[in-house]
Amino acid sequence: MSHPTGPVRLRVAPSPTGDPHVGTAYMSLFNLAFARQQGGQFILRIEDTDRARFQADSEQQVYDMLGWLGLNWDEGPDIGGPYAPYRQSERLETYQPVADALLASGHAYHCWCSSERLAEMREAQQKAKRPPGYDRLCVGKTREERAALPGFQETPVVRMLIPDDVPLEFDDLIRGVVGAPRPDDQVLVKTDGFPTYHLANVVDDHEMGITHVVRGEEWIASTPKHILLYQWMGWDAPRFAHMPLLRNADKSKISKRKNPAARLTWFREEGFLPEALRNFLGLMGYSLPDGQEIFTFDEMVASFDWGRVNTVGPVFDVDKLRWLSGHYIRELPVEDLARRIVEFMGVSGSEADLITRATPLVQERSNTLKEAAGMLRFLVAGESFAVDPEAAAKQLGDGSDAVLDAATTALTDVSTFVTPEIEAALRAALVDGLGLKPKHAFGPVRVAVTGSTVSPPLFESIELLGREATLSRLASARSL
Ligand code: GLU
Repeated sequence: MSHPTGPVRLRVAPSPTGDPHVGTAYMSLFNLAFARQQGGQFILRIEDTDRARFQADSEQQVYDMLGWLGLNWDEGPDIGGPYAPYRQSERLETYQPVADALLASGHAYHCWCSSERLAEMREAQQKAKRPPGYDRLCVGKTREERAALPGFQETPVVRMLIPDDVPLEFDDLIRGVVGAPRPDDQVLVKTDGFPTYHLANVVDDHEMGITHVVRGEEWIASTPKHILLYQWMGWDAPRFAHMPLLRNADKSKISKRKNPAARLTWFREEGFLPEALRNFLGLMGYSLPDGQEIFTFDEMVASFDWGRVNTVGPVFDVDKLRWLSGHYIRELPVEDLARRIVEFMGVSGSEADLITRATPLVQERSNTLKEAAGMLRFLVAGESFAVDPEAAAKQLGDGSDAVLDAATTALTDVSTFVTPEIEAALRAALVDGLGLKPKHAFGPVRVAVTGSTVSPPLFESIELLGREATLSRLASARSL
């Protein structure tokens, strides 16, 4: 088989069928890593020929999420490029001539079988334990001949006539020689006139000069059909690399139905840093020669080698991602972290200033922006401040009133409301005065002031919140 020569061009080709799947980012990362290493191009193509599953806002989400991850494309529907348009629904006239050529050369045929007939056929095959597949009732028949038989529908589809000697093995950059099962007579053009994925994908990869197809292993079974199409059309076929699928802990394929982490937007909502997710996705399929787990995209690019890509489906371990995200949070310059927390919380003005001042207090103890925001929210909650009922049940009860009263007196009397004085006053009143262990002394104060048992350091928090709000929260907790 001959392959396209010339500059390396790779693509990711998501279908806009809902919230972008984490696999789209995963595939983009590996396509991009190889493209960058080779000094080639990375293309984003939108495969929107499945009109039944099409969702209008999905395409924008793909842009947003890949952009958020810093996985930037050189050509795409939004930025154009020499092979525009990059949206398949705008390229329909490209596919029909190919279907016509395949019909003319006898590699494809019209099939008028109704969906009811196909369903009956499948059922009968199942009952008889025969292999599934189209029974070729329409092969060699004219429209008139076929119309005389049952299960006819007006508008035909176009099917591939898979030859008996279809090559089932192909070379894979990651896996070596791969074998696939014998394909069925694949539909190429549907009754709505739209090409199926198989036709559109091959035609576009050819037209767009794609040299390497890097995609999920679920497409291995389709590759012999794609290779046939290249051969029939006399086109060079790209090289293929089939990535292992990301898996749940029970080894099942990650799906949006079962696992929230299948949705790319989930990671942003959960406040993971994009650089951490990028590193994590890299780690899911790839290892650096020295086994180092924390690496930048540039390091991945520099060492990139198909031989280092896993073939076994990596388990998607969110705890590991959390750990990585914590690492990146601690590495960030504090102003950068503050900016991200402010954006995550959606605050502005004086509230943003307050969060910025408080950020150093949470940098060491948060693994995600969401955790940081959760710890800082008490500072900007204003009227909507409420004590978490579980925290209240633990720390606010019969014994706590005396603590809160003593804290109130002590904080009322502090002359300059700054951390060292706040700490000294509270220690004197609660630890020395009431004879409490620090844990019992400060627990109720923490819950009263921050609403939670988990918070930034207490005395600093009280300083940032200010005397007035602190005293008012102590009073409210007193009456809980
Ligand atoms: N549209 C296909 C998908 O969403 C692309 C598969 C491929 O890369 O060939 O998975």
